[in-house]
Amino acid sequence: MKLIINKNHNISKKKISRNSMKVLYRLNKLGYEAYLVGGGVRDLLLGKKPKDFDIATNAKPDEIRKLFKNCRLIGRRFIIAHLIFKNEIIEVSTFRAKNNHLKKNNLYYKKIKTKKGILLSDNTFGKIEEDAYRRDITINALYYSIKDFGIRDYIGGIKDIKLKKIRLIGNAETRYREDPVRMLRVIRFSVQLNMHIDKKTEKPIIKLSNLLKEIPSARLFNESIKLFCFGYGYLTYIRLRKYSLIYPLLPFLFNQLSQKNTFFLKKITINCLKKIDKKGKNKKISCPSFLFASLLWYLLIEKTQILSIKKKIKFSKAFLISINYILKKNSISIGIPKNILLIIKKIWKLQKDIEKRKKNTIKKIINHNNFIQAIELFSLRVEIENHIKLKKIFIFWNKQNFFLKKK
Ligand code: ATP
Ligand code: MG
Repeated sequence: MKLIINKNHNISKKKISRNSMKVLYRLNKLGYEAYLVGGGVRDLLLGKKPKDFDIATNAKPDEIRKLFKNCRLIGRRFIIAHLIFKNEIIEVSTFRAKNNHLKKNNLYYKKIKTKKGILLSDNTFGKIEEDAYRRDITINALYYSIKDFGIRDYIGGIKDIKLKKIRLIGNAETRYREDPVRMLRVIRFSVQLNMHIDKKTEKPIIKLSNLLKEIPSARLFNESIKLFCFGYGYLTYIRLRKYSLIYPLLPFLFNQLSQKNTFFLKKITINCLKKIDKKGKNKKISCPSFLFASLLWYLLIEKTQILSIKKKIKFSKAFLISINYILKKNSISIGIPKNILLIIKKIWKLQKDIEKRKKNTIKKIINHNNFIQAIELFSLRVEIENHIKLKKIFIFWNKQNFFLKKK
């Protein structure tokens, strides 16, 4: 497609973060090409507040590092520069080419694929138009220049914004095989931006959904947060199910549980996502830990039940052993970072304290850093299990009224 430089748009400089403006000016001043790209341009065009600002440039990572003191080079699949500012991180990536131009003896110039076609390393530098073609969807491949205030559109992204269309760049199947996470991104953007998925983009997803199993769990964990913690979790979950993506993303949801616990697990997944959608936006619940504490709760209960019967030990003892077992097992398969594991553990242990309501510990429990998350999980359990004893306990904590003030 031909390059269109579009100056007839609604992007105002004032809406772009000052730090990214500074970076763009500095790179331009030193003779480099530099553009705002990706979600920043897309969201500004849609009248939304961008989550972050990404910059694309022809400066190489080493050159960026020399220019900016606050720079850290990161990434294995591709090396990008993170410029660390007080309140934000600006991602600066060097234009990358889609095709192989291997230059030996240079760490950055590698394009390595696995047998299944997944790109492990993709650091072949290129020109801006090549960079546009290696991006995921058309509306993410728009480049805003602060030199002429024009948007460079190589692939028809502006038209797709107007048509509200999520369209993968290039052959969909090949692009998903290169990076299966693109399937999740397509779903995420279609829900979050309320856009429809182009037919050719949509078609291969169900067939290829299992390729997600090849993705390192830590990357899937990060994607899960973007999918479920930004106010559209429930709808995203429904759409992921529709495209058979939920199982390869969260395989533990399909564990062989007893009928009762399977029912509870399904219910808690839906209710928890709805709660996060409602409250998470204004950060009333710290999402990732609450989300996984809830999703894994009935696995923990089932494990505890089995262990206490099998080993003939008290439920409370089996509960503590099972916490470690579940977190160890699932942290490997879903890549939960250590700091979040620690919080999940606290939320779970607090369930027992909440149930016991020991008189001399009430204040301490209410003042616990993770009490809000814990009582929210407890309220999900009350909704789902519909158990009179749990309801009474919940009323008791409501009467304490302390935590209501904290909400
Ligand atoms: P948001 O930050 O709002 O979640 P985004 O589009 O900015 O959305 P990022 O993950 O910040 O998403 O990525 C920045 C840009 O990098 C994207 O807009 C896209 O152009 C490109 N990109 C990100 N992930 C991929 C991918 N898996 N394949 C190809 N291009 C990608
Ligand atoms: Mg972004």
